[in-house]
Amino acid sequence: MNATIDRIRSQVSDLHQELVRYNLVVWTAGNVSARVPGEDLLVIKPSGVPYDELTPANMIVCDLDGKVVEGEHAPSSDTAAHAYVYRHLPEVGGVVHTHSTYACAWAARGEAVPCVLTAMADEFGAEIPVGPFALIGDDSIGRGIVDTLRGHRSPAVLMQNHGVFTIGKDAEAAVKAAVMCEDVARTVHLSRQLGEPLPIAQADIDSLNHRYQNVYGQPQAR
Ligand SMILES: [Zn+2]
Repeated sequence: MNATIDRIRSQVSDLHQELVRYNLVVWTAGNVSARVPGEDLLVIKPSGVPYDELTPANMIVCDLDGKVVEGEHAPSSDTAAHAYVYRHLPEVGGVVHTHSTYACAWAARGEAVPCVLTAMADEFGAEIPVGPFALIGDDSIGRGIVDTLRGHRSPAVLMQNHGVFTIGKDAEAAVKAAVMCEDVARTVHLSRQLGEPLPIAQADIDSLNHRYQNVYGQPQAR
């Protein structure tokens, strides 16, 4: 049990450095969490601690109501939203939140990123949808994420006027979705400066997504 929590602490701490490496965060904004397998617990970043000072030891362990179980700092102010997702989507093992620039530019307009790249069809299988405007402080952000992503192929949602939340089978998958979300938001934005991107037929999106999610990669890696 403690060995599992220690493993998740170090995984979540390390994954925060990926947010920095891919330029998805500034200052202390952004956070990664992971569900502790087999327990009603999650591990998340402490609130307001600089990325350079994040370590496995200062990660916060919370229950799925967002209450601190282990940790000296307050948890991320987005903990309630993460906890809501874990309570309502049992298949989710990781959640990421960023204010990455291009994705936020779409969120500020409340516009979904259309699925106009094969890489998007692979990873997202659809447009990247927009979730409702919601204020921090109660369940409304968590509810907006779950209501938008439940039954949607996309592991990413653009919360209107706010930023990106992504989900995954584990925290690494959620970080990958956050990196890819920013990348396609940037490319589709650039494409739109020059004209209207060409749509991909739904049948082709379906086929690309099926292949990528089920066939692509090393056979034993999935
Ligand atoms: Zn935020």
